[in-house]
Amino acid sequence: MFNDFKRESLIGKAINKGILEINVFNIRDYSKDSHKSVDDEVYGGGNGMLMMAQPIYDCYKAIVGDKSSINTYYMSPKGKVFNQEMAIEFSKEEEIVILCGHYEGVDERALKLLNAKEISIGDYVLTGGELPAMVVIDSVARFVKGVLSNDESTNIESFRNNLLEYPQYTRPYEYEGLKVPDVLLSGDHKKVEKWNLEKSIEITKNNRPDLYERYLKENN
Ligand code: SAM
Repeated sequence: MFNDFKRESLIGKAINKGILEINVFNIRDYSKDSHKSVDDEVYGGGNGMLMMAQPIYDCYKAIVGDKSSINTYYMSPKGKVFNQEMAIEFSKEEEIVILCGHYEGVDERALKLLNAKEISIGDYVLTGGELPAMVVIDSVARFVKGVLSNDESTNIESFRNNLLEYPQYTRPYEYEGLKVPDVLLSGDHKKVEKWNLEKSIEITKNNRPDLYERYLKENN
């Protein structure tokens, strides 16, 4: 699943430039069982299978060696919901380890041994932690110096100052009878800024009242 992700777009370019490194480890390679199994039934009953602690912990030890201070995250619907602030924080780390679960999840002891913090990408359940891990990596990478070009700044975009981005337009001026708002052609930067802010507030208030509350609190 990670091969295309590592090859494509800005992530692929950043890896080629040596700005970013993404190493993927297969837990199965660390299984001590002759069938290379990594999962077993859940104690106490319940449906499905659980990933065993041993292959996870052995894989983790092989990755981190004696770098015990490295932050480790387990992608999990039970975790704290990931957001842009966390992406910025993670981007300041030299390295992070991300554990992707599968089946019903992982043996709790693996999380304890890895001292893993649980992170969710939203209130829904996916089949595995790989897509969530890619979501986290992608958003964190955008804040790593050199990954985005100067034109693709993170300064003015959604979640800055708890607001969502205002609507944007490109050529042509009129399409299917729909025109670009006149203020954007006025050349008056103050007016454009005011319009952008008003639209950002309007969109945030409608789509994300929780974020709008935070915006009000922090700007009053
Ligand atoms: N039994 C778990 C529960 O109810 O919380 C769900 C396990 S899910 C089927 C399998 C794996 O997908 C999880 O171990 C986790 O790594 C990943 N996963 C699923 N949904 C996720 C989400 N919203 N955020 C992050 N990871 C998720």
